[in-house]
Order: sequence, then C-alpha cells, then structure tokens
Amino acid sequence: MNAQLKKLIIQYSELERAVQELVSAQCREVCGLCTACCCRADLCEEALESPFLCAVHGRDELDSDRYGFLRETGCALEIGRPPVCYEFFCDELQAAQPDALHRNVLLVLGRLPAYAGANALGNAHLVEIMQKEQLDHLAFQRLEKQMQTANEALDCIRAFYNEGTLPEHSRRVFDRIAVSSDSAED
Ligand code: SF4
Ligand code: SF4
Repeated sequence: MNAQLKKLIIQYSELERAVQELVSAQCREVCGLCTACCCRADLCEEALESPFLCAVHGRDELDSDRYGFLRETGCALEIGRPPVCYEFFCDELQAAQPDALHRNVLLVLGRLPAYAGANALGNAHLVEIMQKEQLDHLAFQRLEKQMQTANEALDCIRAFYNEGTLPEHSRRVFDRIAVSSDSAED
C-alpha cells in the first residue's frame, strides 16, 4: 500500500468518526424511539464489497445474513460504513430539526463522507472502486483538496452546534459540498 493511500485511509477514518459523532448527537433521540429501522443488509454488504471501506473497517464478513452489521445496540461497524448510511435522513428526522437552517446543516454534515471520496478514479467514488490494485492509482491531489474542504465544513458545523451560528465563510464552503445551502440563511 503506498503512503498516499495510507494517509487517505487515516484522514477518511478521522472524518467519518467526526461525522458519526455529530450525526449521532443530532439523531439519537428520534432514531432511538424509531421502530422503522432504515438499515438494510444489502447496504451493509456494500461495506464488504468495497476494498477501500474494508481497509477502513477491517472486517471480512457480515455479522448475520439477515441483519448485516446491525445489532440491538446499533451498527457494529465503528467506521467504514457506506457513505449512504450518513446521507440518509428520513422525513421524520428532518421534520424533528428545529428549523430549515438545522435541517440544511444536518444534510451537509451527512454528505461529507460522500463528498470527500467523490471522483476518486475518473467519475468513480472511492467506495465504487472494486479492484484493490486500483486504490494505488487514485486522484490523490483531488481527494486531498476535497478532504480539506470537508474538514472546513466540519469545523463550521461544529461551531454551529456549539455556538448556534454559522461562521461567515460557511456558505462558500457548503456550496462546494454540492448540497444546496440556499435555505441555510433562512
Ligand atoms: S433515520 Fe428515520 S427511519 Fe432511520 S432510524 Fe432514524 S428515525 Fe428511524
Ligand atoms: S449503518 Fe451499519 S448496519 Fe446500518 S446499513 Fe449502514 S452498515 Fe448496515
């Protein structure tokens, strides 16, 4: 494994941990009472099909055919979940956000792993690359830039949850994350 790939795996893992911590804090209350679980074993399988995600989580099989990585206590994958696991917020969860600004900030937050790994090899996302050998030939410079932007967005989002307002430059950063932040200033 080359040094650039190693660095990317570490940076991605750190980003995912941070996103997960913030998403969990925002969703725990509503998801904790939910009986319509949105996890699916076929989504869990995507985490095993992707050599990149396997390098992040280090697992080689599902916990069960029926439930994938889902346990009573939640997802057994600490990191290395498919990006869609962070991007999906059901209507109820979105409706539970205090206002449009919180809703949009949450959508940007959930999109950060997907954004950070986009166009890793041509148009393919990091997790869509199925040949392990191809991971040594990624667009590392592009991925580094995206990682920087994702971390800038993360800092803005942390500031928002801690202080209640978004830093001035957040609009510029959020606009790069390809989620409309039009109502972020509502
Ligand atoms: S995102 Fe929605 S459907 Fe999924 S666990 Fe949370 S409340 Fe339930
Ligand atoms: S969060 Fe975990 S258990 Fe749920 S679909 Fe994703 S990988 Fe599977």
